[in-house]
Parts: sequence; C-alpha cells; structure tokens
Amino acid sequence: MNKDEFRQWGYRFVDWVADYFENVGQYPVRPAIQPGDIKKRLPKEAPVQGEPMEAVFADFQEIVVPGMTHWQHPSWFAYFSANNSPPSVLAELLTAGMGAQCMIWETSPAAAEMEEVVLEWLRKLLGLPEGLSGVIQDTASTASLVALLTAREQVTEYESNRRGLQEPLLVYVSEEAHSSVEKGAKIAGFGSENIRKIPTDAAFAMIPEELEKALAVDKDRGLQPACVVATIGTTSSSAIDPLEPIGRICRRHNVWLHVDAAYAGTAAILPEKRWIFEGAEHADSLVFNPHKWMLTNFDCSAYYVKDAGALIRTFEIHPEYLKTGVDAMVKNYRDWGIQLGRRFRALKLWFVLRSYGVEGIQAMVREHIRLAQLFKEWVEAHDLFEVMAPVPLSLVCFRLNNGRPEDELDRLNRDLLKRLNQTGRLLLTQTSLKGKYVIRMAIDSHTTREQHVRDAWALIQETASALLSKAPV
Ligand code: PLP
Repeated sequence: MNKDEFRQWGYRFVDWVADYFENVGQYPVRPAIQPGDIKKRLPKEAPVQGEPMEAVFADFQEIVVPGMTHWQHPSWFAYFSANNSPPSVLAELLTAGMGAQCMIWETSPAAAEMEEVVLEWLRKLLGLPEGLSGVIQDTASTASLVALLTAREQVTEYESNRRGLQEPLLVYVSEEAHSSVEKGAKIAGFGSENIRKIPTDAAFAMIPEELEKALAVDKDRGLQPACVVATIGTTSSSAIDPLEPIGRICRRHNVWLHVDAAYAGTAAILPEKRWIFEGAEHADSLVFNPHKWMLTNFDCSAYYVKDAGALIRTFEIHPEYLKTGVDAMVKNYRDWGIQLGRRFRALKLWFVLRSYGVEGIQAMVREHIRLAQLFKEWVEAHDLFEVMAPVPLSLVCFRLNNGRPEDELDRLNRDLLKRLNQTGRLLLTQTSLKGKYVIRMAIDSHTTREQHVRDAWALIQETASALLSKAPV
C-alpha cells in the first residue's frame, strides 16, 4: 500500500468506525451464527499475491462484522463490559502508527515515563495508598499471575526462581474468586490441590474468620502459606471481600495479600465508593482493569505493587543485548512482568483521562450505578422475580421464581436466558450462586442509557410471561 492509498483508506476507516459508534445499537448483540460458519467463508491458504484493500475491506464488512459479538452495544449486559471510547481508539491508532515497542526505557522513553505518571494519577484517583508503584499489564489474569509469582519468590527467598519449587506453597482465595487466580496458581507451580477456597457469607464475600482458621490449620500441619487473594467485585455477583480484616490476618501470618479489583476498582473514582478499598494499605499488590469500566479499549490492566524491588527481583533479566547506559536511572518495565516486548498502553489511558477528566468518568460510573439500583428496584417489586445478591455497584443478579422446586427454577431461568439472548436485542450471562442458577445484568457499558435498561426489563418480563404460559403448573 502506498502512502496515498494509506491516507485514503485511513480516512475511510475512521469514517467506518465513527459510523459503527453511531449504529452499533442496530446490530444483533450476538450474531445468529453457528461454530464453523466463519471458517467456511475464509480461504484455507494465504493469498500468494497481494490483494487490493477494496477486496479486503469488502470481506471485513461481509464476513467479519456480521460474525462479531458487539461489546459496545448499548444493550450489552453480559460478563462485564470491555468499554472503548473515541479518544482511546484514536490513541490506539497513533500507537500502532508509531509501531511502538516499549520493552525498556530506551526503546520508548515517553511511553515508559508516561506509564509511570498515568498510573500515579490513577492511584490517587482511586484513593489507593501512597507508596504503591504501578505498571500496566495486559490483563488482570496476567497481573494476578505476576502477583502469585512474586509472592512465591518472596516466601522462598527467591530460591524457587533458582531451584524450582522445593515444597508445596498454599494460596487462599474465596470460593467466589475469578478463575484466573486458579489458573495463575496452577501456572506458578502451586498446584490446584494447594488452593484453599475460603467460604463466603450471605453476601458472597470471603469470611475472614474462615481464612484465619484455614491459615492456622495449614501452619499447624507444617505447610507454607504464600498468598491470599481478595476480590473487590467478584465476577459472579460483585461481592466485596472485606480487605481490612483480611489484611490484618495476612500481616499477622506474614502472607502476601493480592487484591483483584478487575471490574470494581474503577468505582473508587467516586468518593462515595472509596470504601471498597478500605484496608488496601495491607495489600502487597492490587490490580484493576481500565479496559473494563474506564473507557480504555482492551487491553489495559493497572497493576500496583508495594515492594517494587520484590517484583523486579522476581522477573529481572540482564542479557548483554538489553543493557543500556541509563539502566540505573530509569524504570525498565520489561522487569515488571512476564513479557519482554510491551505495547504503549499508557497512551490510550492518558487520552481517556485527559478527554473525559475525572468528572466525566465519575459521571458515567455514577449513572451506571443509578441504573443498576433502578433495575434492582423493578426486580424487587415484581412478584415473579427476585434479586439474588446485594448490588453494591452496577451488577444485578436476579432470577425468575414461580415457586417451583430449585431444579425446575434452574431449568426455567436457563430457558429464559436462552430465549432472551436469541432475540439479539440484548445480551445477558449467567452464573451460579450457592448452587442456584442466576442471571447477571451488568450495567457498565458507556453506550447504555436508561431507555436501554427499561427496554431490557420489558423484554425480560414479556419473555418470562411467554415462558410461564407454556411451563407445566
Ligand atoms: N478478575 C475478575 C474479578 C474479573 O471479573 C475478571 C474478568 O471479568 C478477571 C479477573 C479477568 O480479567 P482479564 O480478562 O483482564 O484477565
């Protein structure tokens, strides 16, 4: 592609994206396609000769777009959102244009220094303790793996890096912790049998006394605890583990405390939600995802660590070909995580924070929380629906309950969810809370307005009525 073609196509693609932003609500949220449908339409071999962009773009529109699930759809209520925003997308374009690779300070000085500054902005915005050092990881999964590896090294005095794990180490999570922690614990060599799942209370939050008990029992047996992971905003129900008592227990037992606030962390930008991080001063590490609720398109995960020295000692490498004359004066983020090569993610975060300002992000988050409370009230007021978990933020867990036995209710709600999602007019996902099948309505998409939530509730009631009129009594 020559430079004139690039310019011409660049303008066209920006137009396409701008139209997409405007029209995304008109697509079915999830396409009605079957596994394999897209593969069938793609050639088995790469083209030998270059093709005109016209042909590539035509296929993008005809094959790719109809085969996509639309995460920015205003009726996206599934999982948690992965919000983008115009400034974030533009920053991503500039990053790609520069082809930036930010493995060490010298390979992208502005990127390294901006990452440091922007993460310090964020730390202050969320009211996180002073002294935490930040680094951007790709995802919360990676950040939690990094935390587990650092905890492992610290507890073994950096011997497992050298000799491999010599004795089992234990990880403690609530039974509601995200699966990425279990995955991380497996990869980090802890072994899935050495993960202790601590029971939760009626609000699905970790019970600190149960954690204390489990630690004491394991220590009495001569076993070695290495890390506790607390979740602020669990995936299933947005439960908030109580950091203050958990943190004190971790200090007493000298165990690394990692906090997974992947979705909920952004809420602390609101003064009235700062309480979610009460006790964060006990945390050795903490992660939250600007790529979820902070308008920064995937991927961008903010990871904070109290002892940056421990992190660096876990990951540092010193091959001759990476040495520079300024290593002692700068942050080389290659030593702050797993990968060597790193993207310039700080730029999009910087664009977002500058474009929206703190107040712009606060207004969005506050509105999502208001809408979730509204939805919760509608569910509570309905005879045939019930709210299944507290709603501290913007996720509402609910189910249809017509008084039938539990296994029938599970089936009924499964059917309800299937029918709702088949309409293509919204997307919801499910979870299981204390063994009960529950529908999750996550209201955290930047395109969602009150009318979309009202439409969703109308559709849910309508679909439930149709389902119940067919159900055996
Ligand atoms: N932790 C929690 C609590 C989450 O809800 C999620 C995803 O929703 C993750 C971790 C994983 O996030 P990521 O996709 O950034 O790895």
